[in-house]
Amino acid sequence: MSSSRKREEILCLFDVDGTLTIPRQKILPTTEEFLLTKVKPVATVGLVGGSDLAKIEEQMGGADVINKYDYVFAENGLVAYKNGGLIGKMSIHGHMGEEKLQLFINSALAYMSKLTLPAKRGTFIEFRDGLVNVCPVGRSCSQAERDQFAAYDKEHKIRETFVKHLQAEFPDLGLVFSIGGQISFDVFPKGWDKTYALRFVEKDDFKEIHFFGDKTAPGGNDHEIYEDSRTIGHKVLSPEETIEQLKTLLHL
Ligand SMILES: [Mg+2]
Repeated sequence: MSSSRKREEILCLFDVDGTLTIPRQKILPTTEEFLLTKVKPVATVGLVGGSDLAKIEEQMGGADVINKYDYVFAENGLVAYKNGGLIGKMSIHGHMGEEKLQLFINSALAYMSKLTLPAKRGTFIEFRDGLVNVCPVGRSCSQAERDQFAAYDKEHKIRETFVKHLQAEFPDLGLVFSIGGQISFDVFPKGWDKTYALRFVEKDDFKEIHFFGDKTAPGGNDHEIYEDSRTIGHKVLSPEETIEQLKTLLHL
């Protein structure tokens, strides 16, 4: 980066989990201090997390996270804060509407009613702001049942076949299916990955938008924003590496 750039001209966006914190843990005080006292004076700073705001607050040191950083994008930007104020909130319900959503949910439930699995428990559909999570074994299963389903799914491709069925049944809903974890898959509108957050910063005329993330490979939740032409992508393996790359980038 050119050292003549002002803080208003450079935006540094960070994935949270694995990039600013060790996976599923809280940010280290030294990392936070570096961001707030070294990076923030010379660059605009934003967080782009896949989790909801409560989880980001928990990992990033409390409820004042929206005031500590210039931008905080929770749920990939479906919930967006700038300078501590809410600037955007979108939900899959608001986007799709009840009628289409119910067609989809009914179809998924009908499909699952015909599956025979090693175990079936409860909570087959979990509705979140930004996505619908579909779980053939049921999210209330035990750890043993979860492991059992994962092994069964590996052999019988339960989730893969299910996703293909839904894709064929709803080709026009503009939905993306993401098989992750052991027991479920997520369904969300196309484009609702982390690039969704970029719409909120586009009008602020940054000369450079840097993005730092750890899951930048295809299928990872940082991939799209890392590859996006509007950002300069930085792949990191740990919070320590994020700090090292920032030192080089910003001449700190
Ligand atoms: Mg991450």
